[in-house]
Amino acid sequence: MEEPDSSPNIRVICRFRPLNQKEKEMGENTSIEFCEDNKTIIINSALENQEPLRFNFDHIFTPASKQIDVYKIAAIPTVEAVMQGFNGTVFAYGQTSSGKTFTMTGVLSDPELMGIIPRMVGTVFEKISTADASVEFSVKVAYAEIYMEKIKDLLDPSKTDLKIREDKTRGIYIEDLTDRYVGSEEEVYDLMKVGTDNREVGYTHMNAGSSRSHSIFIITITQTNAQSFSTKSGRLFLVDLAGSEKIAKTGAEGKRLEEAKMINKSLTALGQVINALTDGKSTHVPYRDSKLTRVLQDSLGGNAKTSLIITCSPSPYNEDETVSTLRFGIRAK
Ligand code: ADP
Ligand code: MG
Repeated sequence: MEEPDSSPNIRVICRFRPLNQKEKEMGENTSIEFCEDNKTIIINSALENQEPLRFNFDHIFTPASKQIDVYKIAAIPTVEAVMQGFNGTVFAYGQTSSGKTFTMTGVLSDPELMGIIPRMVGTVFEKISTADASVEFSVKVAYAEIYMEKIKDLLDPSKTDLKIREDKTRGIYIEDLTDRYVGSEEEVYDLMKVGTDNREVGYTHMNAGSSRSHSIFIITITQTNAQSFSTKSGRLFLVDLAGSEKIAKTGAEGKRLEEAKMINKSLTALGQVINALTDGKSTHVPYRDSKLTRVLQDSLGGNAKTSLIITCSPSPYNEDETVSTLRFGIRAK
């Protein structure tokens, strides 16, 4: 079997978005130093008597970074591995409104502002169109959501509690999840919109604007060589995680508190899985601790190429959440 390229299999990448209007109006200057190595930041705390905090990642993107730059560093190694028949995962992790959806999806209709998912789709079809004529490709997409530890099919919202199964040929998969054959970028974008609309309906009336669920966009690329009849298949998981913010311990109750507990549980499980994979000494990887890590089991670890993108606000107002996001990223390294 071919070996994937030599870049590390799990990378942690950090992205700061620009200050938004509201943050600008609060009139505070950002206190974050971006070092020239593109790997180090220093947070000069807005709190008094607090030592500056220094963090290191595989790459750090400043608020001025462009979608294309993030794509090149965070996604190209993964999409290339998938075209060679390996699996890959890209995650966006961060508090609500830190830029997860902007980074993963962005603006589909704008070539500059397109996020990672549409760019990956573009690369896949481009590679297919220039591939050797003796290789036949099929591309399928699926779109799932995990909310309160239940898996919903975003391409068919009548399917609301799908089960995870495992078998020898397919590996781990979500049973009955709609898997659509697609032949062009436009078809994929249409399905992305269908899925996003189905996601919106579920949560806006519960909790305006903030996503309390994980969304998982799945692209499966299978290639068959007409001469040798050999087949290889790679699967890409593109995950826009639920907001990582802590909800206030007081005041949250009922559904909101249950949601928060479930999110916390699955994000903790994700951190532990990545940690076990990267620390080089764990013999047990706790994939079974959440639906999220179980679904991703075949695409996290082994030969799979993973990028964890942690997204942050540069505002001192969000310092607590930013520091806790950065710490999550450090533990995952
Ligand atoms: P999240 O998905 O983490 O809740 P969003 O991606 O929806 O956050 O981002 C919140 C807002 O900030 C959106 O209006 C988005 O367009 C904007 N935004 C996020 N990241 C950037 C960025 N890097 N450059 C410009 N605007 C951004
Ligand atoms: Mg979002």
